[in-house]
Amino acid sequence: MTRVLVVEDEPQILRALALNLTARGYDVLEAPDGTTALTHAAGGEVDVVLLDLGLPDLDGLDVIRALRTASAVPIVVLSARAGSSDTVTALDHGADDYVTKPFDMPELLARLRAATRRAHRDQVESVAFGDVTVDLAAKTVVRRGAAVHLTPTEWHLLEALLRNPGRLITQRRLLTLLRGDPGHTDPSYLRIYVAQLRRKLEDEPSRPRHLLTEPGMGYRFEA
Ligand code: CA
Repeated sequence: MTRVLVVEDEPQILRALALNLTARGYDVLEAPDGTTALTHAAGGEVDVVLLDLGLPDLDGLDVIRALRTASAVPIVVLSARAGSSDTVTALDHGADDYVTKPFDMPELLARLRAATRRAHRDQVESVAFGDVTVDLAAKTVVRRGAAVHLTPTEWHLLEALLRNPGRLITQRRLLTLLRGDPGHTDPSYLRIYVAQLRRKLEDEPSRPRHLLTEPGMGYRFEA
């Protein structure tokens, strides 16, 4: 059974989440504030954390930092709105993903499953999507039986996305990865390379199905 720690200070939301998750077979630990959350987490045995950033006692970002010093437990942030700077900052600080309020329950469950799966997965060697197969070990890309040539930058970007299926990766994380420079924050640089990848790998580059943009936040690979 997957144990989920739900951290939320609004009693009605906490109760609704606990009921829904319990009904879907999760073992739910409830925390109405950050201190309780960290106490629960320190007890171990938590498989995934669902974290509201606006808490009465601790800053949500401090909760993420504290959790991260002790473990790699997946953290899904509950966000008041998509694209909020708080959410982006949380992702930059090590949260794995986010869902926006009010919740779409199927989406929330899908995000929880994806985050938990990633944490338990062994290193994958190959990924297939659409009519593309990528061998991550050999660094080869084949589409419809033909090899696709990628530049080193395109490859780094693609690899980062494919190794995190379903996960939102922020612009800052990708830029740091590509440039090795956290101060480099020009998102147009990323847009150029993502567009190039889509032209090479997507059936309809202007309506991508696999290399997806989350406006103002980052990119996500969906198989
Ligand atoms: Ca709150």
